[in-house]
Amino acid sequence: MDIRNVVILGSGCAGHTAALYSGRANLKPLVLEGHHPGGQLSLTTLVENFPGFPEGIQGPELIENMRKQAMRFGAEYRMGHVTKADLSKRPFELTAGKDVIQTRTLIIASGASARWLGLPNEQALIGHGVSSCATCDGFFFSGKEIAVIGGGDSAMEEATFLTRFASKVTLIHRREAFRASKIMLDRAQANPKIAFMTDTVVDDVLDVSKKEVTALRLRNTKSGECWDFPTSAMFLGIGHIPNAEMFVGQLDTDADGYLITRNNVLTKVPGVFACGDVQDRRYRQAITASGSGCMAALEVEKYLEEVGH
Ligand code: NAP
Repeated sequence: MDIRNVVILGSGCAGHTAALYSGRANLKPLVLEGHHPGGQLSLTTLVENFPGFPEGIQGPELIENMRKQAMRFGAEYRMGHVTKADLSKRPFELTAGKDVIQTRTLIIASGASARWLGLPNEQALIGHGVSSCATCDGFFFSGKEIAVIGGGDSAMEEATFLTRFASKVTLIHRREAFRASKIMLDRAQANPKIAFMTDTVVDDVLDVSKKEVTALRLRNTKSGECWDFPTSAMFLGIGHIPNAEMFVGQLDTDADGYLITRNNVLTKVPGVFACGDVQDRRYRQAITASGSGCMAALEVEKYLEEVGH
């Protein structure tokens, strides 16, 4: 079996940048794209804070550019999701569907996936008014009243974006204070189509029997008052969960499942590196994910040199 120099799990900013650098180092990286090719940038709209684009750039365009750039230097992309990784063997062994892949080094850039509220009816209504992706599903709610849950930048961005379609967006947040950056919060607050509802949690989403979202069962955390709030959709913007389950027990993770690294991208297994949102709970930006993808690729080069490849 062909032994790869480096396999990269994930094709968001971190994975593409790692692929670009290791491609240019002539390592012929193999990128396994994962469940969500392109990662979170592929689900976003205008990115205004990635340096080099004074007018901003659409997230999907930015990610596609990164992919093309990496491919120009020999990066190979394969659809595939790793279900098993054995880091105790040398070379490391990865199972993706029917394929078994052997590699001398591994870069984990598998990112993080949207968090759900865990409501009794939530999963049954995904695709019927419950969504974690405004850019994917917003269009279906043209002219309707919808709700967005969360108090961070994602919730502000989603709420603002969704006003393109919805007649009214109600942003529901569990506290009074917002985690969102001032600029994103100000923008949402200035939007006449967005109403804010604070100190409010969602206890459930209705109505499974109608196979569509008709209302949210809400509770005010201060007064305890409960009521049904009519709406056509519930968009979640409540953060993400790192995609690192398959490494639990093999690599160190923190209480929320993020991979623990030292010197930015080194894991406790020599030859295995982690970058981007799967190991970064602090910054979680496109530019920091790209930066750590670069670091991981440079560490791969250094490691392969040290072990004589
Ligand atoms: P976040 O900053 O972690 O915010 C998550 C929000 O959801 C918080 O307000 C949190 O409430 C709320 N929340 C979490 N679990 C909840 C639950 N079970 N029930 C109700 N509410 C819940 O996540 P994020 O907004 O996805 O942002 C992540 C990172 O990406 C941040 O660094 C952000 O700046 C960045 N980002 C940047 C942009 C941009 O610049 N264009 C866009 C999106 C995201 P509490 O506040 O009460 O904890």
